[in-house]
Amino acid sequence: MPRSALVIGGNRGIGLAVARCLTQRGDRVAITYRTGLEPEEFFGVPCDVTDLDSVRRAFDRVEEEQGPVEVLVVNAGITRDRLLLSMAEEDFAAVVDTNLTGAYRVLRHATRGMLRARWGRIVLVSSTVAMSGETGQANYAASKAGLIGFARSLARELGTRGITVNVVSPGLTDTALAAALSQERRRQILAQVPLGRIARPEEVAAAVTFLTGEEAGYITGAVLPVDGGSGMGH
Ligand code: NDP
Repeated sequence: MPRSALVIGGNRGIGLAVARCLTQRGDRVAITYRTGLEPEEFFGVPCDVTDLDSVRRAFDRVEEEQGPVEVLVVNAGITRDRLLLSMAEEDFAAVVDTNLTGAYRVLRHATRGMLRARWGRIVLVSSTVAMSGETGQANYAASKAGLIGFARSLARELGTRGITVNVVSPGLTDTALAAALSQERRRQILAQVPLGRIARPEEVAAAVTFLTGEEAGYITGAVLPVDGGSGMGH
């Protein structure tokens, strides 16, 4: 059955790959974008997850266009890498506000319609860094680890209403975010990846698509790594 899907942060990188994959499956897909031009490929609505009103307006527009959101992917994320001693409170707060509190703002809205429908699929995009930690990424790792506790709590709260909440945990993936790394850092990270290469955004999208499908109805509270094996044992 075609579902009404929304990808938060779907204009580029992993989010764009997810939107394409869900479209191929047959879902009606809307995406949000924050900067840049309205994307031509999908029905796009502006949304800044740090602003509750902006989230509310985005949901209103998507629901008018394609009905209540049944499949939700929360992919918006930022980094502000610094070692702790030079990490200003604002650097910490901004990353947590986007990556973690942003997910809270989005889910507050999304779950109302899903509760009414007694059906929903939610995937939050975390990172392998949530479990392993990373030098210079205390803010980012804390926000991404927080998403796991958040998702698992909601998996418990919402499970009896037919709503699943899962986490996909990518390793280094070929997007603008990864392009910002130095060659040396990239080489160090890849040395820890059994598959010996960076992920393609489409490979992360495939995991998200599986977890948001009808057939994944008995999987909730799971953290699915898409990391070339780098997070094994965590
Ligand atoms: P990109 O930087 O390419 O894309 C980030 C997306 O998040 C964009 O759509 C961006 O919108 C959106 N976004 C950022 N801030 C906000 C905000 N305040 N409100 C709404 N949307 C926002 O990153 P990736 O595709 O690489 O990353 C996607 C997700 O995957 C992120 O959560 C990231 O942490 C995670 N991840 C990425 C990895 C990687 O190696 N690439 C590894 C592990 C996890 P806009 O374009 O308008 O800024």
